[in-house]
Amino acid sequence: MSDTIERVKCLIIGSGPAGYTAAIYAARANMSPVLYQGTQPGGQLTTTNEVENFPGYPQGITGPEMMMELQAQAQRFEADIRDGWITKVDFSGDVHKVWVNDEKEIHCDTVIISTGASAKYLGLESEQKYLKLGGGVSACAVCDGFFYRNQEVVIVGAGDSACEEAHYLSKLCKKVTMLVRRDEFRASKIMAERVANTPNIDILFNTETDEVIGDGQVVTAVRVVNNKTNEKQEIPATGFFVAIGHKPNTDIFKDYIKLDETGYIINTPGTTKTNVPGVFVSGDAADHVYRQAITAAGTGCMAALDAERYLAAKEATVEASAIA
Ligand code: NDP
Repeated sequence: MSDTIERVKCLIIGSGPAGYTAAIYAARANMSPVLYQGTQPGGQLTTTNEVENFPGYPQGITGPEMMMELQAQAQRFEADIRDGWITKVDFSGDVHKVWVNDEKEIHCDTVIISTGASAKYLGLESEQKYLKLGGGVSACAVCDGFFYRNQEVVIVGAGDSACEEAHYLSKLCKKVTMLVRRDEFRASKIMAERVANTPNIDILFNTETDEVIGDGQVVTAVRVVNNKTNEKQEIPATGFFVAIGHKPNTDIFKDYIKLDETGYIINTPGTTKTNVPGVFVSGDAADHVYRQAITAAGTGCMAALDAERYLAAKEATVEASAIA
């Protein structure tokens, strides 16, 4: 083994609630975890303003602050938190190989994948502007819908997520306008019907977003265009929700780890085990249903416990064969 190769007992990839929780549990179990933060330290939550639904914060907390606290908690138990991006893996052998920034090679006994998923956005300049300002653009109705109580909002998308989120928003908001780019939903019939039958949801088919309009600080309206007639109209709204899908950050694992057709990692139900022994998954990289900070943290805990048990069983086998 060359001098440049580091050996790690438990490598955690990703720094959202799943990764940090795995680091806290693994560190307290003496597994000396090393966590690589990736390109967006703190993960998706750092793009959220106020987090009000994570238990333990009665006054709420901002996403970035919460991530700093989780990091500090992991470091308190001497988890080794590092900057760096995992660019390549090789899970073909007994020892799992991982490369950081295409340079540094690490050999790991266990790996916990917590790389999350990224919400897709339309990519309009005005959408990105108000997203960055925290001024009314969101990709998570459950996280942010509460801030738009009794207000009018627009949601774009036509899949099950968009229908679920539109329905969720309809219970909080005065009016929800849903923009569907084709003349039909992609969502299952039952979800689409539920939306269609909700009185305060207005569905505009064949309609796309032209621009998110605001006063420089917050969203005030959305200009939409009918893609059949080219007719434009401005819809007053204080919130613009984007629900056009998520992309799990799992590309580098696809040659070794079983993924579903949309790229989510397939885990053994009720556990965080992947198809590769010693490689575990937590958080949104394997969850297209719940996608909450608290569920990600829960599976981060599970992954650390699964990794600890895997190592203990492996060590017991080695000891038994040494005695024999
Ligand atoms: P989907 O990929 O199913 O749907 C994405 C939607 O966004 C489509 O309607 C698509 O339109 C639309 N869209 C994509 N790009 C744009 C764009 N640039 N402008 C406007 N609209 C756009 O993603 P979901 O997140 O909804 O669902 C992912 C998976 O999770 C699915 O398998 C779904 O069934 C499942 N799911 C299940 C739930 C449940 O059972 N409770 C809840 C949520 C998700 P178009 O149709 O024209 O392509």
